Amino acid sequence: MCGIVGYVGMRSAQQVLLDGLEKLEYRGYDSAGVALTQRDGIRVVKSKGRLSTLRSKLEELALPQSGCGIGHTRWATHGEPSETNAHPHCTDDKSVVLVHNGIIENYQELKAKLFRSGYTFYSQTDTEVAVKLVDYYYKKTGTPLEAISRAMLCIRGSYAFGVIFKDYPGKLFAARKDSPLIIGKSENGSLIASDVPAILDQTRRVYYIGNLEIAE
Ligand code: GLU
Repeated sequence: MCGIVGYVGMRSAQQVLLDGLEKLEYRGYDSAGVALTQRDGIRVVKSKGRLSTLRSKLEELALPQSGCGIGHTRWATHGEPSETNAHPHCTDDKSVVLVHNGIIENYQELKAKLFRSGYTFYSQTDTEVAVKLVDYYYKKTGTPLEAISRAMLCIRGSYAFGVIFKDYPGKLFAARKDSPLIIGKSENGSLIASDVPAILDQTRRVYYIGNLEIAE
C-alpha cells in the first residue's frame, strides 16, 4: 500500500503534492513521482528512492508554478522499484497521465489487446495498462468520464486512480474499487488522497469516494 495525492486550486500543486505524500510516508514506498499541468502540456517527474530525492529534483528543475497535479509513492507489486516503473504513468504524448494504488489482475490480457491496437509499453507495471486503456477509450469517446468508466468495466482487481488529461488542464479525475480514496475540499482548492493524514492540514471537509464511483 502506498500513496496518492492530487490537487487542483490556487496554491502551488507541487508544494501540496510533496507535503501530502510526505504525510503518507508511513505506508512505505520505494519510489515517487508527480505530474504537473504546465502551459504547454503535462510534465512528469519521477525518482527511485526517497521523497527527498524527488523534492531535490523538482527544486533543481524549477518548473513554472502549476495549480493542478497528481503525485504518488509506489510500493512495487509488478516490476522492480525503478524510475521507469515509478508512477505517474502516461501516454507517449503525455495527454493522459495516471497514478494507481492497487493491483490489476487481468493486466496481461489487457496489455496484449492494447499491443494489438498499436500501444507500446515501457514499464513492467500493471498500471501502464490502465492509463493506455483509458487513452484507448478517450480516443473513442472524447470524454474523460466515459473513458474512465469504460476502462473500469474492463479492469479486474483493485484500484484507486488519479487521472489528469492534457485537454482538461484545470481538472482532476479519480475513481476507485477496493482501494481507499478520498476527496477534500479546502478554501483554496480540491484534493484527492489515499488517506486522511495527507490533507488534514488543509481541510476537515472530506468525502469518501464510494466503491466503483468516479469523481471529477
Ligand atoms: N501495482 C502497481 C505497481 O506495481 C501499483 C503499486 C502500488 O499500489 O503502489 O506499480
